[in-house]
Amino acid sequence: MPHTRLANLIDGRLQAPLHDHWLDVHEPATGGIFAQCPDSEAADVEAAVAAADRAAPGWAATPIDQRAHLLHRLADLIEARLDEFAALESRDSGKPLALARRLDIPRAVSNLRYFAAAIIGWGSQSHAMQTGAPGAGAINYTLRQPLGVVGCISPWNLPLYLFSWKIAPALAAGNTVVAKPSEITPCTAALLGELAIEAGFPPGVLNIVQGRGPTVGQAIVEHARVKAISFTGSTATGASIAAATAAQFKKVSLEMGGKNPAIVFADADLSDANLDTIVRSGFANQGEICLCGSRLLVQRSIYDAFRERYLARVQVLRVGDPDDVGSDLGAMVSRAHYDKVLGCIAQARAEGGRVLCGGNAITLPGRCADGWFIAPTVIEDLPSSAQTNQQEIFGPVVALIPFEDEAEALAIANDSRYGLAASLWTRDLARAHRLAGQLEFGIVWINCWLLRDLRTPFGGMKQSGVGREGGAEALHFFTEPKNICIAYGAAP
Ligand code: NAD
Repeated sequence: MPHTRLANLIDGRLQAPLHDHWLDVHEPATGGIFAQCPDSEAADVEAAVAAADRAAPGWAATPIDQRAHLLHRLADLIEARLDEFAALESRDSGKPLALARRLDIPRAVSNLRYFAAAIIGWGSQSHAMQTGAPGAGAINYTLRQPLGVVGCISPWNLPLYLFSWKIAPALAAGNTVVAKPSEITPCTAALLGELAIEAGFPPGVLNIVQGRGPTVGQAIVEHARVKAISFTGSTATGASIAAATAAQFKKVSLEMGGKNPAIVFADADLSDANLDTIVRSGFANQGEICLCGSRLLVQRSIYDAFRERYLARVQVLRVGDPDDVGSDLGAMVSRAHYDKVLGCIAQARAEGGRVLCGGNAITLPGRCADGWFIAPTVIEDLPSSAQTNQQEIFGPVVALIPFEDEAEALAIANDSRYGLAASLWTRDLARAHRLAGQLEFGIVWINCWLLRDLRTPFGGMKQSGVGREGGAEALHFFTEPKNICIAYGAAP
């Protein structure tokens, strides 16, 4: 039976790729192919950019309540088909169905609703100034104008969640969009494209071009009519986008990799609930969340006791069929990523790491016999400088690292080229504030993890990111500020 073929959304119509080339889409839980995605090329991007360009003046002139209405309508349509979206996301990415239903799809709905509301409540600044003479002065006001056509490029780990996190503020701010989801997980973005037509977005306002990074992604990045690139993905790809856009002085927002620390002090409240959160912070979504804490720093005075309780919890995490409600972890997203993570575990052993649990692939019975499953893995005895503690693994692998005191914890935590997110577990409020100020990370969670308020700046420093998403930051990114200065009274 032929596989379902996904379509591009270009100029308000679902379209096959111009050259009729296709990519296989795999189901990680079974290793089988279940769909085909357009292997689009520069010509498809050209058509999408042309459509977006034609639509740009009309969309920029559309009243904000109408833009917001369409975003709400799209959110409603996704929510009405939440189960279908969740099943598709789980099948495409290998994540537990329950997680897709609880986190990924509801969050995509929230992203659309949040930016629909945010654009209504958004204002710009005004600055009154005196110019010296009595009764004379000037008023400055700031116009925030849409950029025109913008490019949005997203990764595979939280497919619809991160895709919608970009297109929602871009559209709300009055830009037209050429978007590219990951070719590894293209399905839910394709379905969103169908619903965008149903919601009534004018042709060309939202275009979705499916395909590979070096072809479709690169063509979007390099296109002269695309004024800004919002990218989430690996640091290596981010670097190539930064280089490719530099000569055109394009606006770029880059959300990239991480090697996040979770820091547990001896005075932390290690209730069962908090311990569960610490475990989740390492292994949620098979560790394939950029915010997962893969370096678990534990104060030496509680190290042994903590390790025992922690391991007891990790060992009972169930790796299983993503469809099974009892599965805590599903499959790794692709064969290539599965091989990479197993390679990182082998490297940890070669570096002298002691594997305390996991460390192996898992073969499941039945329909998942050929799926890409890895046991949750905990490693110790490696210094901060080890590759295992420096490189992003992006899988269910956590390294335990003991520390003596606050100064050492800070030094180890900051000993990274990445700076995305840190979490801190302590009852000492003064210490929490002190460390929060000194940790070189864009996000610091204190006694929590992945608690997200969509109004806050989201992103990382160092090689984790350039710029921030979320709230007003995203609306700033997707608009060009213009200062208008009106003098009154005597001429200055
Ligand atoms: P990736 O960089 O391989 O791909 C991301 C996207 O970029 C995909 O759509 C891909 O097709 C596209 N792409 C690839 N090469 C391109 C090129 N030359 N030009 C333009 N586009 C190109 O990343 P991935 O493997 O899909 O995602 C995993 C990475 O994403 C991890 O490093 C993870 O930490 C990171 N991530 C970061 C955040 C964050 O918010 N900081 C969130 C999620 C994931």
